[in-house]
Amino acid sequence: MKAVIVKPGEKDSVHLEDVPRPTLSSSNALLKIKRVGIDGTDIEINSGSYGECPTGSDYLILGHECLAVVEDIEGSSSIQKGDLVVPTVRRPDDCPNCMNGEPDMCLKGEYKEHGIRGLHGFASEFGVTDPNFLIKIPQDLENIGVLLEPVSVAEKGIYHTFKIQERLKWTPRKALVLGSGPLGLLTTFLLRLKGLEVSTVARGARGSLKSQLVERAGAEYVSTAEKPLNTLGKFDIIMEVTGVSSVAVDAQQLLNANGVMCFLGVYPPNTLSLDVGKAYTDLVLGNRTYFGSVNANKRDFEIGVSDIRQIEKNFPAVLRDMITKTVPLSEYKAAFYPDKGDIKILLDLSAGEKETKVTPLEDSI
Ligand SMILES: [Zn+2]
Repeated sequence: MKAVIVKPGEKDSVHLEDVPRPTLSSSNALLKIKRVGIDGTDIEINSGSYGECPTGSDYLILGHECLAVVEDIEGSSSIQKGDLVVPTVRRPDDCPNCMNGEPDMCLKGEYKEHGIRGLHGFASEFGVTDPNFLIKIPQDLENIGVLLEPVSVAEKGIYHTFKIQERLKWTPRKALVLGSGPLGLLTTFLLRLKGLEVSTVARGARGSLKSQLVERAGAEYVSTAEKPLNTLGKFDIIMEVTGVSSVAVDAQQLLNANGVMCFLGVYPPNTLSLDVGKAYTDLVLGNRTYFGSVNANKRDFEIGVSDIRQIEKNFPAVLRDMITKTVPLSEYKAAFYPDKGDIKILLDLSAGEKETKVTPLEDSI
Protein backbone atom coordinates (compact mmCIF):
# COMPACT_ATOMS: atom_id res chain seq x y z
CA MET A 1 0.00 0.00 0.00
CA LYS A 2 1.05 3.62 -0.53
CA ALA A 3 2.15 5.57 2.55
CA VAL A 4 3.62 8.99 3.33
CA ILE A 5 6.88 8.19 5.08
CA VAL A 6 9.98 9.92 6.44
CA LYS A 7 13.45 8.86 7.49
CA PRO A 8 13.52 10.42 10.97
CA GLY A 9 16.45 12.78 11.44
CA GLU A 10 16.81 13.43 7.69
CA LYS A 11 15.69 16.84 6.47
CA ASP A 12 13.00 16.87 3.73
CA SER A 13 12.85 13.08 3.55
CA VAL A 14 9.05 12.97 3.22
CA HIS A 15 7.88 10.92 0.24
CA LEU A 16 5.30 8.45 -0.96
CA GLU A 17 6.37 4.82 -0.86
CA ASP A 18 4.93 1.33 -1.24
CA VAL A 19 5.05 -0.36 2.17
CA PRO A 20 3.64 -3.65 3.50
CA ARG A 21 0.00 -3.53 4.55
CA PRO A 22 -0.36 -4.00 8.34
CA THR A 23 -2.36 -6.96 9.64
CA LEU A 24 -5.00 -7.55 12.30
CA SER A 25 -3.81 -9.09 15.57
CA SER A 26 -5.22 -9.76 19.02
CA SER A 27 -3.63 -6.52 20.25
CA ASN A 28 -4.28 -4.34 17.20
CA ALA A 29 -7.43 -3.38 15.30
CA LEU A 30 -7.05 -2.91 11.54
CA LEU A 31 -8.18 0.53 10.36
CA LYS A 32 -9.12 1.66 6.86
CA ILE A 33 -8.00 5.27 6.86
CA LYS A 34 -10.36 7.94 5.60
CA ARG A 35 -8.62 11.23 6.32
CA VAL A 36 -5.41 12.47 7.92
CA GLY A 37 -4.68 16.01 9.05
CA ILE A 38 -1.16 17.35 8.70
CA ASP A 39 0.13 19.76 11.34
CA GLY A 40 3.25 21.54 12.55
CA THR A 41 4.55 18.39 14.23
CA ASP A 42 4.53 16.50 10.90
CA ILE A 43 6.34 19.38 9.26
CA GLU A 44 8.93 19.50 12.08
CA ILE A 45 9.50 15.74 11.79
CA ASN A 46 10.14 16.30 8.07
CA SER A 47 12.63 19.03 9.01
CA GLY A 48 14.65 16.29 10.76
CA SER A 49 14.31 17.70 14.27
CA TYR A 50 12.63 14.64 15.73
CA GLY A 51 10.66 11.49 14.99
CA GLU A 52 11.52 7.86 15.69
CA CYS A 53 11.04 4.69 13.64
CA PRO A 54 9.12 1.75 15.07
CA THR A 55 11.37 -1.09 16.24
CA GLY A 56 12.47 -3.14 13.22
CA SER A 57 11.58 -0.44 10.69
CA ASP A 58 13.90 2.01 8.95
CA TYR A 59 11.13 4.49 8.16
CA LEU A 60 8.21 6.13 9.92
CA ILE A 61 4.72 6.47 8.40
CA LEU A 62 3.53 9.96 9.31
CA GLY A 63 0.03 11.06 10.32
CA HIS A 64 -1.21 11.26 13.91
CA GLU A 65 -4.45 13.20 13.20
CA CYS A 66 -6.66 10.50 11.75
CA LEU A 67 -10.23 9.51 11.01
CA ALA A 68 -10.75 5.87 10.06
CA VAL A 69 -13.22 3.03 9.79
CA VAL A 70 -12.60 -0.18 11.71
CA GLU A 71 -11.87 -2.71 8.95
CA ASP A 72 -11.43 -5.63 11.32
CA ILE A 73 -11.15 -6.20 15.07
CA GLU A 74 -10.85 -9.12 17.48
CA GLY A 75 -12.66 -9.44 20.79
CA SER A 76 -13.56 -5.88 21.77
CA SER A 77 -17.10 -5.05 22.82
CA SER A 78 -17.30 -1.25 22.69
CA ILE A 79 -15.71 -0.86 19.24
CA GLN A 80 -16.94 -2.92 16.32
CA LYS A 81 -16.14 -3.54 12.69
CA GLY A 82 -17.49 -0.66 10.57
CA ASP A 83 -17.31 1.94 13.37
CA LEU A 84 -16.03 5.40 12.52
CA VAL A 85 -13.12 6.11 14.88
CA VAL A 86 -10.28 8.46 15.80
CA PRO A 87 -7.25 6.85 17.47
CA THR A 88 -5.57 8.73 20.31
CA VAL A 89 -1.87 9.36 19.64
CA ARG A 90 0.12 8.29 22.69
CA ARG A 91 0.60 4.75 24.02
CA PRO A 92 1.72 4.19 27.62
CA ASP A 93 4.93 2.92 29.19
CA ASP A 94 4.94 1.40 32.68
CA CYS A 95 5.17 4.57 34.79
CA PRO A 96 2.55 5.24 37.51
CA ASN A 97 0.67 7.83 35.42
CA CYS A 98 0.60 5.69 32.29
CA MET A 99 -0.60 2.74 34.39
CA ASN A 100 -3.35 5.03 35.74
CA GLY A 101 -4.69 5.85 32.26
CA GLU A 102 -2.73 9.12 31.99
CA PRO A 103 -0.09 8.56 29.29
CA ASP A 104 -0.37 12.29 28.54
CA MET A 105 1.12 12.90 32.01
CA CYS A 106 3.90 10.31 31.55
CA LEU A 107 6.77 10.44 34.08
CA LYS A 108 9.33 8.16 32.42
CA GLY A 109 9.08 9.48 28.89
CA GLU A 110 9.22 6.01 27.32
CA TYR A 111 5.76 6.34 25.77
CA LYS A 112 5.21 5.83 22.05
CA GLU A 113 3.22 8.03 19.69
CA HIS A 114 1.61 7.08 16.39
CA GLY A 115 3.26 8.87 13.50
CA ILE A 116 5.78 10.57 15.79
CA ARG A 117 7.69 8.22 18.01
CA GLY A 118 8.11 4.47 17.72
CA LEU A 119 4.74 3.68 16.09
CA HIS A 120 3.66 4.15 12.50
CA GLY A 121 1.11 6.84 11.80
CA PHE A 122 -1.92 6.71 9.55
CA ALA A 123 -1.01 8.52 6.32
CA SER A 124 -1.57 5.29 4.41
CA GLU A 125 -4.43 3.16 3.17
CA PHE A 126 -4.49 1.01 6.31
CA GLY A 127 -3.16 1.30 9.84
CA VAL A 128 -3.21 -0.65 13.09
CA THR A 129 -3.62 0.39 16.70
CA ASP A 130 -4.62 -0.84 20.15
CA PRO A 131 -8.45 -0.80 20.12
CA ASN A 132 -8.50 0.44 23.73
CA PHE A 133 -7.38 3.81 22.39
CA LEU A 134 -10.06 4.25 19.74
CA ILE A 135 -12.67 6.98 20.11
CA LYS A 136 -15.99 6.32 18.41
CA ILE A 137 -17.16 9.16 16.16
CA PRO A 138 -20.87 9.65 15.37
CA GLN A 139 -21.60 9.33 11.66
CA ASP A 140 -22.92 12.89 11.38
CA LEU A 141 -19.47 14.25 12.35
CA GLU A 142 -17.75 12.33 9.54
CA ASN A 143 -16.75 15.48 7.65
CA ILE A 144 -15.00 17.17 10.58
CA GLY A 145 -14.16 14.27 12.91
CA VAL A 146 -10.55 14.32 11.74
CA LEU A 147 -10.15 17.55 13.74
CA LEU A 148 -10.69 15.66 17.01
CA GLU A 149 -6.97 15.14 17.70
CA PRO A 150 -6.07 18.86 17.66
CA VAL A 151 -9.34 19.59 19.48
CA SER A 152 -8.22 17.17 22.22
CA VAL A 153 -4.96 19.09 22.72
CA ALA A 154 -6.93 22.32 23.29
CA GLU A 155 -9.42 20.45 25.49
CA LYS A 156 -6.66 19.20 27.77
CA GLY A 157 -5.22 22.69 28.26
CA ILE A 158 -8.65 24.10 29.08
CA TYR A 159 -9.65 21.15 31.29
CA HIS A 160 -6.47 21.51 33.35
CA THR A 161 -6.88 25.30 33.56
CA PHE A 162 -10.25 24.87 35.24
CA LYS A 163 -9.07 21.87 37.29
CA ILE A 164 -6.19 23.91 38.73
CA GLN A 165 -8.57 26.70 39.65
CA GLU A 166 -10.70 24.45 41.81
CA ARG A 167 -8.24 25.74 44.45
CA LEU A 168 -10.34 28.92 44.85
CA LYS A 169 -13.58 30.64 44.01
CA TRP A 170 -13.00 31.68 40.43
CA THR A 171 -15.30 33.15 37.81
CA PRO A 172 -13.17 33.86 34.73
CA ARG A 173 -14.57 36.40 32.31
CA LYS A 174 -11.87 37.24 29.77
CA ALA A 175 -9.55 34.92 27.87
CA LEU A 176 -6.66 35.63 25.54
CA VAL A 177 -5.57 33.16 22.86
CA LEU A 178 -2.12 33.79 21.39
CA GLY A 179 -2.01 32.42 17.84
CA SER A 180 -4.61 31.79 15.13
CA GLY A 181 -3.32 28.59 13.54
CA PRO A 182 -5.52 25.47 13.79
CA LEU A 183 -4.85 25.01 17.52
CA GLY A 184 -5.41 28.71 18.27
CA LEU A 185 -8.72 28.66 16.39
CA LEU A 186 -9.93 25.47 18.07
CA THR A 187 -8.94 26.87 21.48
CA THR A 188 -10.89 30.04 20.65
CA PHE A 189 -14.01 28.06 19.71
CA LEU A 190 -13.85 25.94 22.90
CA LEU A 191 -13.39 28.96 25.18
CA ARG A 192 -16.34 30.65 23.47
CA LEU A 193 -18.46 27.55 24.23
CA LYS A 194 -17.72 28.28 27.90
CA GLY A 195 -19.19 31.76 27.46
CA LEU A 196 -15.89 33.58 27.92
CA GLU A 197 -15.09 36.89 26.27
CA VAL A 198 -12.23 35.81 23.99
CA SER A 199 -9.56 37.86 22.21
CA THR A 200 -7.46 35.95 19.70
CA VAL A 201 -4.19 37.58 18.77
CA ALA A 202 -2.07 37.03 15.67
CA ARG A 203 0.23 38.96 13.36
CA GLY A 204 -1.95 38.77 10.26
CA ALA A 205 -4.20 41.63 9.26
CA ARG A 206 -7.91 41.57 9.97
CA GLY A 207 -10.12 40.42 7.10
CA SER A 208 -8.35 37.09 6.57
CA LEU A 209 -10.23 33.80 6.79
CA LYS A 210 -8.64 33.25 10.21
CA SER A 211 -9.98 36.54 11.53
CA GLN A 212 -13.41 35.79 10.01
CA LEU A 213 -13.52 32.40 11.74
CA VAL A 214 -12.58 33.99 15.07
CA GLU A 215 -15.33 36.58 14.63
CA ARG A 216 -17.93 33.98 13.53
CA ALA A 217 -17.35 32.33 16.91
CA GLY A 218 -18.11 35.63 18.64
CA ALA A 219 -14.49 36.31 19.62
CA GLU A 220 -12.40 39.38 18.87
CA TYR A 221 -9.55 39.04 16.37
CA VAL A 222 -6.63 41.30 17.22
CA SER A 223 -3.83 41.92 14.72
CA THR A 224 -0.67 42.88 16.61
CA ALA A 225 0.29 44.94 13.56
CA GLU A 226 -2.63 47.24 14.41
CA LYS A 227 -2.91 46.89 18.18
CA PRO A 228 0.08 46.07 20.41
CA LEU A 229 -0.33 43.33 22.99
CA ASN A 230 0.23 45.70 25.93
CA THR A 231 -2.90 47.71 25.05
CA LEU A 232 -5.32 44.79 25.44
CA GLY A 233 -5.91 44.96 29.20
CA LYS A 234 -5.93 42.02 31.62
CA PHE A 235 -7.14 38.44 31.18
CA ASP A 236 -8.17 35.65 33.55
CA ILE A 237 -7.02 32.92 31.16
CA ILE A 238 -4.18 33.10 28.63
CA MET A 239 -3.62 30.23 26.20
CA GLU A 240 -0.17 30.46 24.56
CA VAL A 241 -0.19 28.59 21.25
CA THR A 242 2.36 30.48 19.14
CA GLY A 243 5.52 28.83 20.47
CA VAL A 244 7.17 32.26 20.25
CA SER A 245 8.99 33.05 23.51
CA SER A 246 8.86 36.83 23.09
CA VAL A 247 5.07 36.71 22.62
CA ALA A 248 4.72 34.52 25.72
CA VAL A 249 6.88 36.83 27.85
CA ASP A 250 4.95 39.94 26.75
CA ALA A 251 1.61 38.23 27.37
CA GLN A 252 2.57 37.21 30.91
CA GLN A 253 2.18 40.87 31.88
CA LEU A 254 -1.50 40.66 30.90
CA LEU A 255 -2.49 37.98 33.39
CA ASN A 256 -5.04 39.09 35.99
CA ALA A 257 -4.66 38.30 39.69
CA ASN A 258 -5.66 34.64 40.27
CA GLY A 259 -5.20 34.13 36.52
CA VAL A 260 -3.87 31.06 34.71
CA MET A 261 -1.59 30.95 31.69
CA CYS A 262 -1.39 27.67 29.79
CA PHE A 263 1.57 27.00 27.48
CA LEU A 264 0.75 24.73 24.52
CA GLY A 265 3.66 25.63 22.23
CA VAL A 266 7.17 24.30 21.76
CA TYR A 267 9.73 27.06 22.30
CA PRO A 268 13.03 27.04 20.43
CA PRO A 269 16.06 27.97 22.58
CA ASN A 270 16.80 31.69 22.58
CA THR A 271 18.63 34.37 24.53
CA LEU A 272 15.63 36.48 25.36
CA SER A 273 16.15 38.46 28.58
CA LEU A 274 13.47 38.53 31.24
CA ASP A 275 13.27 40.32 34.60
CA VAL A 276 12.98 37.09 36.55
CA GLY A 277 12.59 38.88 39.90
CA LYS A 278 9.57 40.82 38.63
CA ALA A 279 8.09 37.74 36.94
CA TYR A 280 8.34 35.63 40.14
CA THR A 281 6.99 38.47 42.29
CA ASP A 282 4.02 38.87 39.91
CA LEU A 283 3.34 35.15 40.30
CA VAL A 284 3.38 35.39 44.10
CA LEU A 285 1.49 38.65 44.65
CA GLY A 286 -1.29 37.74 42.21
CA ASN A 287 -1.58 34.01 43.00
CA ARG A 288 -0.91 33.55 39.30
CA THR A 289 -0.24 30.18 37.69
CA TYR A 290 1.73 29.27 34.59
CA PHE A 291 1.58 25.67 33.43
CA GLY A 292 2.47 23.54 30.43
CA SER A 293 0.21 21.03 28.71
CA VAL A 294 1.13 18.41 26.13
CA ASN A 295 -0.75 15.72 24.25
CA ALA A 296 -4.21 14.74 25.53
CA ASN A 297 -5.99 12.16 27.63
CA LYS A 298 -8.68 9.83 26.30
CA ARG A 299 -11.03 11.95 28.43
CA ASP A 300 -10.12 15.03 26.37
CA PHE A 301 -10.96 13.20 23.12
CA GLU A 302 -14.32 12.18 24.57
CA ILE A 303 -15.14 15.72 25.72
CA GLY A 304 -13.95 16.85 22.28
CA VAL A 305 -16.55 14.75 20.45
CA SER A 306 -19.44 16.48 22.21
CA ASP A 307 -17.78 19.90 21.95
CA ILE A 308 -17.26 19.47 18.18
CA ARG A 309 -21.00 18.96 17.86
CA GLN A 310 -21.65 22.00 20.07
CA ILE A 311 -19.25 24.17 18.03
CA GLU A 312 -21.13 23.11 14.89
CA LYS A 313 -24.41 24.09 16.51
CA ASN A 314 -23.28 27.43 17.97
CA PHE A 315 -20.92 28.57 15.20
CA PRO A 316 -22.07 26.80 12.03
CA ALA A 317 -19.41 25.57 9.60
CA VAL A 318 -16.38 27.19 11.32
CA LEU A 319 -14.75 23.77 11.62
CA ARG A 320 -15.47 22.84 8.02
CA ASP A 321 -14.21 26.21 6.81
CA MET A 322 -10.88 25.96 8.65
CA ILE A 323 -10.10 22.97 6.41
CA THR A 324 -8.65 24.91 3.50
CA LYS A 325 -7.49 22.00 1.34
CA THR A 326 -8.31 18.33 1.02
CA VAL A 327 -5.94 16.46 -1.29
CA PRO A 328 -5.44 12.83 -2.31
CA LEU A 329 -2.42 10.97 -0.94
CA SER A 330 -0.53 11.51 -4.20
CA GLU A 331 -0.65 15.28 -3.55
CA TYR A 332 0.73 15.02 -0.01
CA LYS A 333 3.28 17.74 -0.79
CA ALA A 334 0.51 20.35 -0.67
CA ALA A 335 0.22 19.57 3.05
CA PHE A 336 3.93 19.63 3.80
CA TYR A 337 4.64 22.79 1.86
CA PRO A 338 1.45 24.78 2.53
CA ASP A 339 0.51 27.96 0.76
CA LYS A 340 0.46 31.21 2.67
CA GLY A 341 -2.94 31.42 4.34
CA ASP A 342 -3.61 27.69 4.51
CA ILE A 343 -5.08 26.70 7.87
CA LYS A 344 -5.69 22.93 7.97
CA ILE A 345 -4.80 20.61 5.11
CA LEU A 346 -6.16 17.07 4.95
CA LEU A 347 -5.06 14.01 3.07
CA ASP A 348 -8.11 12.14 1.79
CA LEU A 349 -7.61 8.40 1.49
CA SER A 350 -11.23 7.42 1.17
CA ALA A 351 -11.94 7.59 -2.54
CA GLY A 352 -8.74 7.62 -4.55
CA GLU A 353 -8.09 10.66 -6.65
CA LYS A 354 -10.39 13.49 -5.72
CA GLU A 355 -10.51 17.04 -6.87
CA THR A 356 -8.56 19.47 -4.72
CA LYS A 357 -10.71 21.90 -2.79
CA VAL A 358 -8.96 25.26 -2.53
CA THR A 359 -10.25 28.29 -0.68
CA PRO A 360 -8.48 31.61 -1.26
CA LEU A 361 -6.92 32.85 1.94
CA GLU A 362 -5.01 35.67 3.55
CA ASP A 363 -2.12 35.95 6.00
CA SER A 364 -1.24 33.32 8.56
CA ILE A 365 0.70 33.60 11.77
ZN1 LIG B 1 4.59 6.86 31.43
